Amino acid sequence: MAIKLIIIGGVAGGATAAARARRLDERAEIILFERGEYISFANCGLPYYIGNVIKNRDSLLVTTAEAFKARYNIDIRLFSEVMGIDRTSKQVKVHDIMTGRIYEESYDKLILSPGAEPVRPPFKGVDLENILTLRNIPDSDMIKARVDAGRHESSVIVGGGFIGLEMAENLVSRGVKTTVIEKLDQLMSPLDPEMSAIVRDHMAEKGVECYLGEGVKGFTENEGLITVHTDKNRNIECDMVILSVGVRPENRLARDAGLAIGHMGGIKVNAAMRTSDPDIYAIGDAVEVRDFISGQPVMTALAGPANKEARVAADNVMGGKSIFKGTTGTSVVKIFDLTVASTGLSEKACRHNNIPCLTSYTHSNSHAAYYPAARMMAIKLVFSPSNGRVLGAQIIGMEGVDKRIDVLATAIRGSMTVSDLEELELAYAPPYSSAKDPVNVAGFVASNLLKGDVRNINWNDMEDLDPDKDIVIDLRDKRELNDTGFIPGAIHIPLIELRSRLPELDKGKTYIVYCAVGMRGYLAHRILTQNGFKSRNLSGGFRTYDAAVK
Ligand SMILES: Cc1cc2nc3c(=O)[nH]c(=O)nc-3n(C[C@H](O)[C@H](O)[C@H](O)COP(=O)(O)OP(=O)(O)OC[C@H]3O[C@@H](n4cnc5c(N)ncnc54)[C@H](O)[C@@H]3O)c2cc1C
Repeated sequence: MAIKLIIIGGVAGGATAAARARRLDERAEIILFERGEYISFANCGLPYYIGNVIKNRDSLLVTTAEAFKARYNIDIRLFSEVMGIDRTSKQVKVHDIMTGRIYEESYDKLILSPGAEPVRPPFKGVDLENILTLRNIPDSDMIKARVDAGRHESSVIVGGGFIGLEMAENLVSRGVKTTVIEKLDQLMSPLDPEMSAIVRDHMAEKGVECYLGEGVKGFTENEGLITVHTDKNRNIECDMVILSVGVRPENRLARDAGLAIGHMGGIKVNAAMRTSDPDIYAIGDAVEVRDFISGQPVMTALAGPANKEARVAADNVMGGKSIFKGTTGTSVVKIFDLTVASTGLSEKACRHNNIPCLTSYTHSNSHAAYYPAARMMAIKLVFSPSNGRVLGAQIIGMEGVDKRIDVLATAIRGSMTVSDLEELELAYAPPYSSAKDPVNVAGFVASNLLKGDVRNINWNDMEDLDPDKDIVIDLRDKRELNDTGFIPGAIHIPLIELRSRLPELDKGKTYIVYCAVGMRGYLAHRILTQNGFKSRNLSGGFRTYDAAVK
């Protein structure tokens, strides 16, 4: 007998699962319920629609219900909210929003892909008219209409994550003065703080004031203007507030049906994407999945995992044996001129999970420096001290960041080590890369550290130096010091003078050497240690240090 599959939610996960299920079984009866007006729309494109980068609203619709139905023979029911699941009789209760009709529909197998909703914390005044969130096309219509009308000249974005910062860029590009308030001490929480400091500085360059470590207490309104009140007694007036403080899994249906829920609030699933009920699968933003490295349950509100989980769930519904091996949370985001990307575990995530790690910082050109328009990118590599396995990476730059993060994401999937990164043969011609690609360079530096060819010191250990025992040497040229400043207390010995000035140094001291990005520091470290001096190289050089301590 043909299987009857019901899917709840018709966007990233739901639509993918429906299409895959149909490809696997031409005879199956597949019904997809979507509460909203659209299926399969590009939620990731919404900030760019508001910013007028995407000009045509219709291009946000990856497909229409009619086209999807025609291609896949799926019974798509829009404006249809599933209200409950009766697992005993294997039926869902559906509310037809347009007619008000409530009816039941039976299933053999059920896939839940209800997504996650933007969190609206219970701040005083949170329900005021111009306090908005962004999840779907109607939300973006609402924000865009206000900006288009030209009545909204200023905005406050609460929350400095992906969506908040994408919105900041797009609102600024529309001439809306924008301020970001973030409760954490940093923007972009997947990054380590010193990497996120690069983003903070860039936002400031673009005229976006970011108040970090500052929470919102509430909102008041006066003659259409909203005042945002913070816990540092700051009051910011604006025309519009975008709340982007994170998302909460839509777990109500699952919870009410008695399905197991994880400690983060996501629906619990196994590697087959099966819930605690063998006939019900769940995917996407609503579920907790396994972190590929730590093995811990995590929630990643990202389209890539949602799509892959959908494929696995549909395979298994149709009798297959597919497995979702876990997520590395690989992400990339454009923030004004920067591309900000990360994959795997950050240093702080390793600490949180008690996973020992080493880190290295490198700053490399996106392509050969002599070919026009090369731009520096900062790479932080997180790796295992015992075997060099790559655990995570963060990259921030302007060009070529996306391809490097994808190489590193692949390396993590393949359980590769930092010495494997040294050996990777990556495509090179001057407009695209260097003969030593930034990924290779990151591998060289990390391997040097692992092999003991260099001893590093990280920016956050500099404050623990003992001025009686530790001497900091700035190896850069005078001009560089004048341009950028230097670490207080450092003595200045340009690298090219170091050999001749060794007699001035004391073998009883430890010399902390630094240059702009760490390369000359490494050379100096080699010179010093081979001449019997104790030395450590400041990882990532002045550039990493300066961004982090500013
Ligand atoms: C503004 C924005 C930008 C983003 N940018 C990126 C990006 O650049 N890269 C990236 O990887 N990810 C991005 N994401 C996240 C990505 O869109 C989500 O991870 C992905 O859509 C999750 O898929 P899903 O199927 O779990 O949920 P969704 O795509 O949210 O779909 C869930 C659907 O289920 C419906 N639904 C819920 N409950 C019911 C019910 N009871 N009955 C019927 N229907 C129901 C909802 O109406 C919704 O349409 C972005 C998200 C947003 C909002």
